[in-house]
Amino acid sequence: MPIDATQPYDPDNIFAKILRGEIPAKPIYEDAHAFAFPDINPQAPQHILVIPKGAYVSWDDFSTKASDAEIAGFIRAVGLVAREAGMVEDGYRLLANVGQHGGQEVPHLHVHIFAGRPLGPMLARQG
Ligand code: AMP
Repeated sequence: MPIDATQPYDPDNIFAKILRGEIPAKPIYEDAHAFAFPDINPQAPQHILVIPKGAYVSWDDFSTKASDAEIAGFIRAVGLVAREAGMVEDGYRLLANVGQHGGQEVPHLHVHIFAGRPLGPMLARQG
């Protein structure tokens, strides 16, 4: 079920538990502001999730409330993860789902990085 992106942050969401080490995730990258790990249900040959360490529900919440250092750190981490995964030469796609219409399932901001094959049309066609 997609979440309501205006809800308060739920500290028991699955990515908060990953950040606290209560649920395992294979670390791909970690710094003061970001953590990257493989998506458990990959939708492309390479599918990585990058999350901020701070408690933000969505892109909207993050871009409103995070400090400049958190925002710069997170954005740089997304680029670094893709670069270090060797995705730049053939290209990759970033996706951040927000709320009901975005289809966001986990209420902690995450950016999906997809790569490893041509990724097709930007959005599924309706009907
Ligand atoms: P979204 O629909 O944008 O909220 O995407 C949530 C993503 O989190 C999905 O692609 C799931 O496969 C992924 N996911 C859920 N639980 C885990 C987990 N424990 N470890 C890694 N990825 C997960």
